[in-house]
Amino acid sequence: MKRTISIKLRLTKDQSNQLASLRDAFLNACNQIVPFAVQHRCWNRVALHNICYTAIRTSSQLGSQMVCNAIFSVCKAYKNKCIVKGENVPVIRFHKNRSIHFDKRTYSLKGNFLSLYTLQGRMRVEMQMGPFQQTYFSQGIPKEAELTFRKGHWYFNLVLDLPDQPICQDKGIMGIDLGENVLAATSSGKLFGGGKVRHERHQFLSKRRCLQSNGSQSAKQLLKKISGKEARRIKQINHVVSKQVIQEAIQTNAGTIVMENLTNIRKRIRAGKKVRSRLHRWAFRQLQTLIQYKAETHGLKVLYVNPAYSSQRCSLCDQLGKRDRHLFKCSCGNQQHSDLNASRNLCQFAQPIGRATCTVNCTQVATIG
Ligand SMILES: [Zn+2]
Repeated sequence: MKRTISIKLRLTKDQSNQLASLRDAFLNACNQIVPFAVQHRCWNRVALHNICYTAIRTSSQLGSQMVCNAIFSVCKAYKNKCIVKGENVPVIRFHKNRSIHFDKRTYSLKGNFLSLYTLQGRMRVEMQMGPFQQTYFSQGIPKEAELTFRKGHWYFNLVLDLPDQPICQDKGIMGIDLGENVLAATSSGKLFGGGKVRHERHQFLSKRRCLQSNGSQSAKQLLKKISGKEARRIKQINHVVSKQVIQEAIQTNAGTIVMENLTNIRKRIRAGKKVRSRLHRWAFRQLQTLIQYKAETHGLKVLYVNPAYSSQRCSLCDQLGKRDRHLFKCSCGNQQHSDLNASRNLCQFAQPIGRATCTVNCTQVATIG
């Protein structure tokens, strides 16, 4: 499994300045690569390299390998955008908050020291690691890394390839439905991230809408500030919810977790415009990634299934039922929270033959805010 550790670097003023000038050159190169990507609709690393490498290598101060890394960073930024066929390709600006990509050819490690490529040649710096990072560092194989500047310090975010956790032998399966009403519902009967969290999301949205309709310069600045705050809060909530979900899986002896394939979540949820705009902003993918990350740490298996009909189908009798707000009703008499019903369907979709029997008590419902 891959894990990233963020290592603080101990630098002199002069070294810090050297990294700052490397960053400026790197981001400048990225910004020069962007027009090639836009013009050719190309974010494949090899193809983009063939298109623009020579031009960038001559115009930039960067060495050949760093130019390759800049191409990598541009491709990664465009891949993360998930641009649909036929849609216009946006111009991505690489601002100062972006990181510098390093690979095995542009950095090396020796004990607690790191040797980095800079415009003035190699630079040797000391890494400051806590006990947690030391443990991971000693067990893993170092891969690529990102160098970032945060609040006055440089950090080396190093990806490590760690040995996989022994696989959990528990036979239970737990379905997790991610949704707008509550963030996560588990087939074991628990709801996470409703109540207070939902209220908070509504507040963010109404504040944002108010500022957007204002349109003045100061409103735009405030909107930018709020966006950052919102993103940090979302991440924090997603961390808490993912942790609670994994604890639930462990407590209910579920060795396997089932989630929906999120590719079409935006299309799938046929909600009003208001709800959809909120959905877009909520980072479901981030939550799913965090759940997978934490599941792997505990040796739990993660399965993804096609969620078609998971919210319309009755999890007891397979018939299509009706939804009345958050209540799912079926003619067979089944009535339960619609998200829980969906999570139980996901659980069953993962079973190749026949109906899955929930390993845990399906009637217990708790809301954790
Ligand atoms: Zn039914």
